[in-house]
Amino acid sequence: MDYVTQSDEATEAVGAQLFNALKGSGIVFLNGDLGAGKTTLCRGVLRALGYTGAVKSPTFTLVEPYELALGHVYHFDLYRLGHPDELNYLGVDEYFHDQAMCLVEWSQKGSGLLPKPDLEVTMMVTGDTERRLSVSAQTLKGQAALAGLRI
Ligand code: ADP
Ligand code: MG
Repeated sequence: MDYVTQSDEATEAVGAQLFNALKGSGIVFLNGDLGAGKTTLCRGVLRALGYTGAVKSPTFTLVEPYELALGHVYHFDLYRLGHPDELNYLGVDEYFHDQAMCLVEWSQKGSGLLPKPDLEVTMMVTGDTERRLSVSAQTLKGQAALAGLRI
């Protein structure tokens, strides 16, 4: 499933759609270079939950928990992870539970130690304000979410 967005708001709207399609929980890996819009999509997920505060990549803390009334979102940015083993110190298992929405930027840095994502989003810069997003499903739950999005 592909999207082309022409603004931050349009990318945020895709985040909200993915959140709704997953019914509020699941694991989403976000691939793409710095500036591709990964954090912007995460902001859209959080806005869908009514969160109005700032949403930044947790580059130094690696994970930012948002335990909101409407759901729990864990936003990871593994860019600065030295070795996948460091994820054990973060206690990632606690975050990846059924009720949570886990959004993971730079998931390849945690390779081998992260659960399989339901959806994988690859984002590309195709213009000053244009981004191409390609969403693929990696689990049955992800497939169901994608099928819902196609309707
Ligand atoms: P990443 O987390 O992938 O490094 P960010 O979401 O932090 O990326 O940054 C994306 C940057 O690109 C922001 O400055 C945002 O304003 C800009 N931008 C321009 N057009 C878009 C778009 N269509 N979708 C998302 N971000 C966009
Ligand atoms: Mg980011």
